[in-house]
Amino acid sequence: MKMMIDGMHVDAKDKATIPVLNSATQEFLDTVPAATPEDISAAIEAAQAGKKIWGDTPQYKRSEILIKCAEAIDRNLDSLCRLLTTEMGKIITEARAEVDCAAQIFRGFAEMANHFYGQTMSEFQKGSETDIIFTRHEPLGVVACITPFNYPTELCYHKVAAALAVGNAVIIKPATDNPLTVMRIAELCWESGIPGNVLQVVTGQGQKIGRLLASAQGIDKISLTGSTEVGVDVATHAVQTMKRLSLELGGNDPFVVFEDADMDLAVAEAVSGRLKNAGQTCVSPKRFIVQNTVMNEFTEKVIDSLKKLKLGSPLSEDTQLGSLINIKAAQRVLEQVEHTVAQGAKCIYGGKVYDQTYFQPTVLTGVTKEMDVAVDMEVFGPVFPMIGFDTFEEAIEIANNTPYGLQAGVMTKDSSKAIRAASRIKAGAVVINGSGNYRNIDQPFGGVKMSGMGREGVCCTLAEMTHEKSYILKRIMVDNESCGS
Ligand code: NAD
Repeated sequence: MKMMIDGMHVDAKDKATIPVLNSATQEFLDTVPAATPEDISAAIEAAQAGKKIWGDTPQYKRSEILIKCAEAIDRNLDSLCRLLTTEMGKIITEARAEVDCAAQIFRGFAEMANHFYGQTMSEFQKGSETDIIFTRHEPLGVVACITPFNYPTELCYHKVAAALAVGNAVIIKPATDNPLTVMRIAELCWESGIPGNVLQVVTGQGQKIGRLLASAQGIDKISLTGSTEVGVDVATHAVQTMKRLSLELGGNDPFVVFEDADMDLAVAEAVSGRLKNAGQTCVSPKRFIVQNTVMNEFTEKVIDSLKKLKLGSPLSEDTQLGSLINIKAAQRVLEQVEHTVAQGAKCIYGGKVYDQTYFQPTVLTGVTKEMDVAVDMEVFGPVFPMIGFDTFEEAIEIANNTPYGLQAGVMTKDSSKAIRAASRIKAGAVVINGSGNYRNIDQPFGGVKMSGMGREGVCCTLAEMTHEKSYILKRIMVDNESCGS
């Protein structure tokens, strides 16, 4: 596919390309351009005109066009989800749910933006009785959305639909390995009425062009979902021009199982939460913190459940575990498992790469709270490190002993204990009666600590994509006639 700059499909200025492979088979699928600095400048320049056109478009009109985008995604659901599965190895049932979610996101922001009101201030401060102050949410200008590989469409359009809904021009920089479905949806947006200088897509290596976007003049906000390492790099560059920032970053989410939990439910939540997207989910449970009295039962039941999994082609409707994104990702998970074993853990199930990009569901026991996997090593694969605890306080200490704080899960039948645990765990959200692998499009989603800053969701992204301007009508309530002036 080609980049989408200023209403045209274009190659890179120097014609350089990057191959896109089928993750599951490693077969060649397509290429995308490797953008040059000139290409990025062209997109930023076009966006300056785009932000004016779109910012001046009435709200109801923008929302109508976003609804058309949602309808176009619905009509193309089958081809989009097949493309998504092919370019990333995500199982087809999950790809369908993800693309469908992208359509819902467009609808959600279109509706919310129609009713995104400003405020009128009271006359509380003495001396302000004759003034009226009201506020309006105005677009920021140009928003660059830099997005990851793991939920490429959902996470990208959470940003894009919100930014567009409130009148910004948008430049998308999708993940390098699997940009195609994001680009196809952007084409559908053009066909639905979003102008070609309002929504653009540039492709290439993040370190090169992502950084250019973060540093460039003419971009008012960077909204990034990606690793913490990249988030720090983007923030460092973006601050030089005082860009607004939203950062949705990495995690090492705890899943705490107390001895009084419904053990079958805890196992089902652990397995579905960890295996979704083959473990490549920012909020999947990555540390299984289990009370020692039920550790054997929990571990055995998890393994029983893993043995029943249906492996196979991600395109088959009944496959339950797909491939990882690429060969490097599978090797990285292998290194992380071997590193944890070298630190003293035991690999009692799985532990190997198969068919180049697949990783066996893997169970590690004897993991202690000091090991890297229990602290700051984010494993993006189907790996279950089991960490035992004896007391409530110890469970909380282990859960919080990480630089990350994205989401968490707590399993217990004691609702008071669940709420107390949730209030003590430092995270953006805590799921009670489930794993932290949960996202509702309305929820204020986001992390604390090194997991990022800002919140995304239909309830809150519009505020992050606008600035609230005060209009001050000074002395507007003075009765000029009675004053005789
Ligand atoms: P990544 O950080 O490698 O890449 C994310 C995006 O940033 C890509 O488009 C990439 O090309 C670009 N990029 C890379 N280097 C850059 C740089 N120096 N400057 C600007 N852009 C750059 O992440 P990934 O491997 O695609 O995704 C996995 C990571 O994302 C995990 O750490 C995961 O936890 C995190 N993630 C977080 C959330 C969340 O909502 N908090 C959601 C999904 C994924």
